[in-house]
Amino acid sequence: MIEVTELVKRYGDFPAVKGISFKVEKGKIWGLLGPNAAGKTTTMRILTGYLPATDGKAVVAEFDVFEQANEVKKATGYLPEVVPLYPEMTVSAYLGFVADIKGVSSSKKKEAVGRALHAGGLESVRHRLIKNISRGYKQRVGIAQALINDPQVLILDEPTIGLDPAQIIEIRELIKSLRGERTILLSTHILAEVTQTCDGVVIINEGNLMASGSLDELTASYGGRDGTFIRLRKGGEEAAALFRGLPGVETAVPEGGEVRIEWGRGQDCRDDIARLAVEKGLGLLEMRPAAMNIEDLYLKIVSGGIVQ
Ligand code: ATP
Repeated sequence: MIEVTELVKRYGDFPAVKGISFKVEKGKIWGLLGPNAAGKTTTMRILTGYLPATDGKAVVAEFDVFEQANEVKKATGYLPEVVPLYPEMTVSAYLGFVADIKGVSSSKKKEAVGRALHAGGLESVRHRLIKNISRGYKQRVGIAQALINDPQVLILDEPTIGLDPAQIIEIRELIKSLRGERTILLSTHILAEVTQTCDGVVIINEGNLMASGSLDELTASYGGRDGTFIRLRKGGEEAAALFRGLPGVETAVPEGGEVRIEWGRGQDCRDDIARLAVEKGLGLLEMRPAAMNIEDLYLKIVSGGIVQ
């Protein structure tokens, strides 16, 4: 579990985090989103006990990050944006070294390294030098080192940055396989990652909390609309204007060769839309759902300047 209340971080006079609050329930994966310099890394470093906050409260795995920083470090695994790997070490030796640093007792070290190798899918490269493994496998080593102390909470700073599409899918699957056992907060600039991996999101901008909640909650409160894309032989503005005249329809605009039609949540205008398209001879080719996606939501929240 992660609970952040009115968290503030100032670097000198510069306020990087301005009183944000959010909660991630045990066993869930949440995304921390925001533009460059939003305060994501700062927040994550505070939550791992490595950076003191200026004010506020944060509880990670039942420990207070201000009063019990050592317990927080023991209960947390952290994948920083740039993982400090040692290229001349083998994967196993490196994980053993991290186990020593994290204070894993010598009697439990072998088991801890074995578990981290297994969780990271690294058994086949355990004896390879880190400099000789691929970028994706290096990222797996980064995640494995975060898991070495069997932490309840994982904080992952841009876990898929710099990876190729196949590696991104592999790392996402690896993260998803950890859901349930651990509470995970990950930062990312890839919005699709959020829908594919996360149960909920926290969106911050310039140190302010813009929104937080499950994806369904946010779509309901910021979107509030359902819709459909309709592909027609005779589409365009004329067709859009006809759909705008239907009861319940709030918007209808031509978009990429289709018309995007939206109506208030809880209604369903699809029957009327299809009937109108047929009656007016518009040549109905296809209809598909146009629910608000995470890109729409993010842009609406960050660009729209909505502050919770
Ligand atoms: P990015 O997506 O670009 O990694 P971020 O959301 O992780 O950005 P942070 O790295 O937390 O953002 O930085 C938030 C703000 O705090 C930025 O304006 C940054 O320049 C500033 N900042 C970060 N670390 C320090 C520091 N040690 N001293 C002074 N300012 C800092």
